[in-house]
Amino acid sequence: MTLAVVSGATRIAAVIGSPVSHSLSPAIHNAGFQALGLDWAYAAFDVGPGQAAGALEAMRVLHLGGLSVTMPHKADVAAAVDQRSIAASVLGAVNCVSWDKGQLVGHNTDGEGFVASLVEAYGESAVGKSCVVLGAGGAAKAVIQALGAGGATEVVVINRTPAKAAAAAELAGSCGRVGDADDINNADLVVNATSLGMASTSGAGICPVDPSRLGPHQIVADLVYHPLSTPLLEAARAAGSAPLDGIGMLVHQAAAQFSLWTGHEAPVAAMTNAARAALGSS
Ligand code: NAP
Repeated sequence: MTLAVVSGATRIAAVIGSPVSHSLSPAIHNAGFQALGLDWAYAAFDVGPGQAAGALEAMRVLHLGGLSVTMPHKADVAAAVDQRSIAASVLGAVNCVSWDKGQLVGHNTDGEGFVASLVEAYGESAVGKSCVVLGAGGAAKAVIQALGAGGATEVVVINRTPAKAAAAAELAGSCGRVGDADDINNADLVVNATSLGMASTSGAGICPVDPSRLGPHQIVADLVYHPLSTPLLEAARAAGSAPLDGIGMLVHQAAAQFSLWTGHEAPVAAMTNAARAALGSS
């Protein structure tokens, strides 16, 4: 690993969360700063539950250049910033804090990160797509909101806990509704936003859909990125669907943050390489 030289002029950005030592964000952002030769450095701060407001106060006092926010602070930070983006307001969750004229602005870049990964991989946006999203947690809500705002014709939400599916579907606006497994067959885009398939959990090795419902007319995305090739993506490849792994969303949500802080277009290729290397060693 090459360490950046930190001077008195270096701008500091960081992620706050708990636990945070496993975060890939330092590797991704520091690779971006290095690729553009920016005098910035990115750290990780373990901030315990209930301490988000204190961390924001520290951002003001220490003049931190930007903050990424992860569990368990996304809702608390949304409540504590001076302003919120539309996505952050609608979701009530912030994953990035930037400055605007001395005020702290909360953003949620997860949904736009997912759509950007779709565009990067297949040159296709949400426009005109019939979508199924599996899950109704934080990641699912961000994707559901972005697909609805991005011009999808339909966003169908399927979740183990039906009440959560109804609340999440509302985030897509008038094109959102709760559905069931039969909706998967005809969808243009199927997104797994559950934790099924994730390594080191009880869902490891589990495919969240019946593979016989998948076909060549579909893009099948998995937000899970550990492992990168999940049971769902293996089923998608076998069915002739176009697979989309979770690393694209991970990198593009970070790229959007990078641009908000630095004003520069993010070096996505360098950040992707860093994410892949960090995943390989995790
Ligand atoms: P979360 O808020 O805890 O939501 C988890 C979702 O998975 C809920 O809808 C939950 O259903 C469902 N679920 C969990 N276990 C299940 C099971 N055994 N059977 C069926 N459904 C189950 O988590 P999250 O933050 O949204 O993250 C979800 C996944 O997305 C994780 O794997 C995470 O790593 C990934 N992710 C990826 C990115 C990226 O950049 N690629 C970003 C964020 C998250 P209930 O509502 O019924 O509990």
